[in-house]
Amino acid sequence: AVRPHWLFGDQLGPHFIDHRHHGPDPRAPLIMIESWAVLRRRRFHRAKAHLLLSAMRHRAAELGDRVRYVRARTYREGLAEAAGREPVTVCRPTSRAALGLVESLAQVHVLPARGFLTPGDAFARWAEERAPGRMRMEDFYRWVRREHELLMDGDQPAGGRWNLDRENREPPPRGARTLGAPDPWRPEEDEIDDEVRHDLDRWEREGRVSFVGRDGPRCFPATRREALASLRHFIAHRLPWFGPYEDAMLAADPVLSHSLLSAPLNLGLLHPAECVDRAERAWRAGDAPLNSVEGFIRQIAGWREYIWHVYWWFGPDYRGHNALGHTQPLPRWFLDLDADAVTARCLRHALKQVRDTGWTHHIPRLMVLGSRALQDGWDPAAVTDWFHRCFVDGYDWVMLPNVVGMSQYADGGLMTTKPYTSGGAYIDRMSDLCGPCAYRPRDRTGERACPYTTGYWSFLHRHRGPLSGNHRMARAVRGLDRLADLPEVLATAQARGAAPP
Ligand code: FAD
Repeated sequence: AVRPHWLFGDQLGPHFIDHRHHGPDPRAPLIMIESWAVLRRRRFHRAKAHLLLSAMRHRAAELGDRVRYVRARTYREGLAEAAGREPVTVCRPTSRAALGLVESLAQVHVLPARGFLTPGDAFARWAEERAPGRMRMEDFYRWVRREHELLMDGDQPAGGRWNLDRENREPPPRGARTLGAPDPWRPEEDEIDDEVRHDLDRWEREGRVSFVGRDGPRCFPATRREALASLRHFIAHRLPWFGPYEDAMLAADPVLSHSLLSAPLNLGLLHPAECVDRAERAWRAGDAPLNSVEGFIRQIAGWREYIWHVYWWFGPDYRGHNALGHTQPLPRWFLDLDADAVTARCLRHALKQVRDTGWTHHIPRLMVLGSRALQDGWDPAAVTDWFHRCFVDGYDWVMLPNVVGMSQYADGGLMTTKPYTSGGAYIDRMSDLCGPCAYRPRDRTGERACPYTTGYWSFLHRHRGPLSGNHRMARAVRGLDRLADLPEVLATAQARGAAPP
C-alpha cells in the first residue's frame, strides 16, 4: 500500500510532494495537522498565526480530496487521528523539536529536507575543512555560487567581483521621503482569511490563545499562486532598486525595495532556486543592474542557506549560548509592542511596524531592535523568543542563528566577526529618522542624549576586556579612553533604566 505523506505547515509548495530525488510516492494521500498546542505555547503575533493558518487551509483547499486535514490538540494526536498506526513519510522538518518528535514516532519515515539549494552533507564537507570560528558566510556563499554556477562566467564571478557590498550600502537619497520604487505586491484576502480571522477571534474570546500585534489585512502571500505573483512583481519592478538602498531606512517608506519574500520562502511556497534563477535572468536580459542582482542572490543563496546549515551544524546547545553574560529581562513595553510609549523615533517606528505587520527589513531588526537588546544586556534566549513570536517569517531554524549569533553576539563570534551595534550617528547616516527625533544622535549626555549613543558607549565599557581583543572592535574600544565625559555618559544610560527610551 502507498504510505500517506505528512506535510508540516512550512512545507506547502509543490517541491514537498515531488516524488523525484527520494520524495514521497506520487500517489500518496496527504496529511496536514493544525495543532492548537503550537499556538498556545507562545504568545505569537496575530498576523503570523493568521498567515500560517491561512496558508495551510489554502493548501488543503487546493489539494482537495487528496489531503486529510486534521485539527487536533497536538501533532501526536492529529497523526493518530489521520493515520492510526499506519506508516507515513514526512520531509525532514525544519526545527530540532519537530525533528525530535517525528524521529520518536516509529511509524514515521523521515525523507531528506527540501527547500534549500545545498544538502546537509555537502555543507558538512565544506564546514569540516574549516576551523570553528572560520566558517564565514562570504566564503560559503562563493562556494555555493561555484557549485550551482550561479551568476558565474566560467569559473569567474559575473562582472569580475564576488562582492558588490560597497555599492550596496548607500544612505537614502538626500531629502527623499520615499525611494520612488513601485509599490510592493500585496495580496487580497478571501473567504478563507475571513474564516481564519473568525476562528482567531473566537479562540481569543474563549481564552484558548493569546496574541500580540495587530492582524490584518494580510500582507504576505498564502498560496503558491500569490507567492509567484509576488516574486514576478519584485523581479520585474523592484529588483533594480534593491542593491544600493538595502541598508537604508525611511520613515515613510519602511519596505524600500526589499522583496518581502521571506514569509513565502519560509512557508515553503517558493523554492530559493527559482528566486535566484529569475534574478540572474533579469541581469542577463539587461533588466536589472549587477549590484542589485548580486545583492539579492547573496541574501538567498548566501545568508539564507548559510543560516539553515549553521542551525543544524552548531548543535542543540547553541540555543543556550550567552557569551556576554546578558541576563536582563525584556521590558514590558517591548514585549507588548507598545510603540506609542517610545520616544526614540527609530525605535518607535520599528516597533510600530512589528506591531502592525510582523515584519521589518534587516536593518531595523539588527541595528534598532536587536541593538537595543544588546546595548541593554537583555537575555539573548528571551530576545530570540521575542523575534520568533513577533515576526511573520520567524521559525526556529532561521531565528536562532540570526539572533543568538548575528544580532546578540551570544555565541562569542562563531558566526560574525564582531557585535553589531552602533551609536545614533549610524542610524542618522542611514535614515531620515533622527531629524525630528526628541533625541540628538551626537548627544551623549543631558536630556537629549540619544539612547543608541549612550547605550553604545556603555556597552563597549561593560565589555571592554573581551572586545579590546577583537581586531574589528579594538579601535572603537580605544575611543572610550578619549571620552572625557564617560562617567556622565554611563550615568545617563543608567538613569534611563528599563523605561522606554
Ligand atoms: P530581502 O532583503 O528582500 O532579502 C531577500 C531574502 O533573503 C529574504 O526574503 C530571506 O529569505 C533571505 N535572507 C536575507 N538575509 C537572511 C538571513 N540573515 N537569514 C535568513 N534569510 C535571509 N529572516 C527570516 O527569514 N526569518 C527570520 O526569522 C529572521 N530573523 C532575523 C532576525 C534578526 C535579528 C536579523 C538581523 C535578521 C533576521 N532575518 C530573518 C533576516 C532578514 O532580516 C529577513 O530575511 C528579511 O528582512 C526579510 O525581508 P525580505 O524578504 O524583504 O528580505
